[in-house]
Amino acid sequence: MKISSIIRFYEELNRYIHKSDQKTDISVNIEKGTTVGALIESLGPPGAAVDLILVNGKPEGFDYILRDNDRVSVYPVFERLNIESVSMIPHSPLRRLTFVCDIHLGRLAKYLRMLGFDTLYSNRYNDDQLIRISNAQNRILLSRDRQLIQDKHVTRRYLISHTDPEEQIREIVSYFDLKNNIAPMTRCLKCNGLVRPVAKEAVRPQVDKPVFERNEKFSECMECGKLYWKGSHYDAMMGWIRKVLGSDKKNSRIL
Ligand SMILES: [Zn+2]
Repeated sequence: MKISSIIRFYEELNRYIHKSDQKTDISVNIEKGTTVGALIESLGPPGAAVDLILVNGKPEGFDYILRDNDRVSVYPVFERLNIESVSMIPHSPLRRLTFVCDIHLGRLAKYLRMLGFDTLYSNRYNDDQLIRISNAQNRILLSRDRQLIQDKHVTRRYLISHTDPEEQIREIVSYFDLKNNIAPMTRCLKCNGLVRPVAKEAVRPQVDKPVFERNEKFSECMECGKLYWKGSHYDAMMGWIRKVLGSDKKNSRIL
């Protein structure tokens, strides 16, 4: 027995579906017993790209079984500006978020890198460049500038509410539920490049003697060559991470 439903995909989910179905209500006839997740994937978008499903205005999971005349709205991951915190679908552990920060968020960019998140930042990016980078590289554009965030060309975005950088990093970690994805000392604070371990002997010419003697493990940025070691700045950084993220009750067990 067949039932009929109407389904609509929002924002970048339209990339996955047939051109004639983009940004419009799609009428479908489906077998009774079909789940909303199966219907979505049959039309193109992978489940991992979906953050929120509304059926007749109510959030539902992928396993919701469709009924006759249901109306389904499907929103992508990141498209949260207009849907706030109604998301019901657990985040995929494979989801890898990347960011681009506007020119006022230099400290936040550094903090994101400190936690291991791929974050582009330059104090020379203008609004057009920010939007282009965000779209071309699927990066979430972070800004406190409502006008920029609401620009119709921006598809991945988050409007930051706090002004203090420590509050901002707490806000991002909590909002995007990143506490299980934190990987300190994996990314260069200066250039965002990935950091990899390097043989101690190889760094001898580049570091002061006391540093060389006191430390066994060194890492190097694969992009700019900057060296890192688990010395006093590592301890200070881990202390900072605990302080910043630990004081948020929601994230109190991060480290
Ligand atoms: Zn670097």
